[in-house]
Amino acid sequence: MILLALGSNEACTGRPKPPVPAPTSLRECVKGNHQFVEAKKVHLVKKHETLFHISNMYGVPIEKIAIENGIKDPSKISVGQAIVVPGNVSSNIIWPVRGRISSYYGRRGRHGIHTGIDIPAPKGTAIVAAADGLVIASGKGLDGFSKYGRIVILEHANGIRTIYAHNKKNIASRGSCIRTGDVIGEVGDSGNATGPHLHFEIRKYGNPVDPLIYLP
Ligand SMILES: [Zn+2]
Repeated sequence: MILLALGSNEACTGRPKPPVPAPTSLRECVKGNHQFVEAKKVHLVKKHETLFHISNMYGVPIEKIAIENGIKDPSKISVGQAIVVPGNVSSNIIWPVRGRISSYYGRRGRHGIHTGIDIPAPKGTAIVAAADGLVIASGKGLDGFSKYGRIVILEHANGIRTIYAHNKKNIASRGSCIRTGDVIGEVGDSGNATGPHLHFEIRKYGNPVDPLIYLP
């Protein structure tokens, strides 16, 4: 783990600072292989569907699906439930914060489609980088991200970005080259958040994708 300067790039003038190209080159920073492999699929349970159907559909044993989702009784799944179906490849990215998910990707709420996952954690809990990446934005009230409060955005290889939002504090500053597991911020409730949690997004060429497909 490397030590990072604690200075933040937050605009003190109240004027939102848009993410701008960082001084360090991405190629220099991200030398590893592509870490964001689509290791899993997410299946939303439809009416009359059982774990047996899902198991057949994807050719993955019921037991494997049950373990992946912490399902103790395979007969108890509900319509609309997001079932993570493991594949044969494994992803080498890591969870930015450990904990349960309070809101899944794609679920519609008051604010429209949810573009990430929410992981509740006590204020001040360390947020770590999911993979090696370059900090392309670190601040509060950034252009297009005003509801996100304090955010850190990392750029990875192959058009992938990860976003860490509602932070109490951003530790990583723009232009820093970050390694997997480095602490980049602290969990908070800044921006449009009802309680302390990490809102985590993965975007592929700008489009949000379900982080559960990539997380181990
Ligand atoms: Zn969220």
